[in-house]
Amino acid sequence: MKKKIIVGLDFDGVVAYNPARLARLPIALIKRHILGENKISFFVPKTPLQKSLWALAHESSLFPARGAALLRKLTQEGRIEAHLVTSRYPFLESNLYLFLRRWNLLDCFSSITLNTKEEQAHKYKERVLRAKKFDYFVEDNWDIVSHLHGSRIKTEVHWIYNILDRNRAYPWKHPYLEHALETIALGRK
Ligand SMILES: [Mg+2]
Repeated sequence: MKKKIIVGLDFDGVVAYNPARLARLPIALIKRHILGENKISFFVPKTPLQKSLWALAHESSLFPARGAALLRKLTQEGRIEAHLVTSRYPFLESNLYLFLRRWNLLDCFSSITLNTKEEQAHKYKERVLRAKKFDYFVEDNWDIVSHLHGSRIKTEVHWIYNILDRNRAYPWKHPYLEHALETIALGRK
């Protein structure tokens, strides 16, 4: 019998697509290129107001990504074992489960891991990937992808790019989840 492929998936930007996220891209680019902030750092909301604004930014117009149907099919057929690894903080957990139930995606995942200790997202994902030893991990955040790729973990990290980032050279890059899963599970290029 063929060995099951074990795939870790990020949530926002990989399993879920949020058109509003594109609006935040210019801010990231200004920080990086004009303010010269090269260090990777992720904002941790602390006050109730910050938390509700953060929740709102994550929930606005959220849809399953192109590839969600293929994810369902591949897990149901037992061809892949999927694990969700999101840097979402625990106060977004109920919204996450609501989304997964609403779109019939909850059963796809053998495990769901949230950033419960409020670690920096790239360090958190590196730690989880080292512990879980996935064959593949699919992530959309370039800072996280390049950090993981440079950290010599055994997991092959696949990147979902966005329109502004697409010219970066990277060995495993995809426009959306469907393309990543076809490459990983079906051997398509
Ligand atoms: Mg993401």
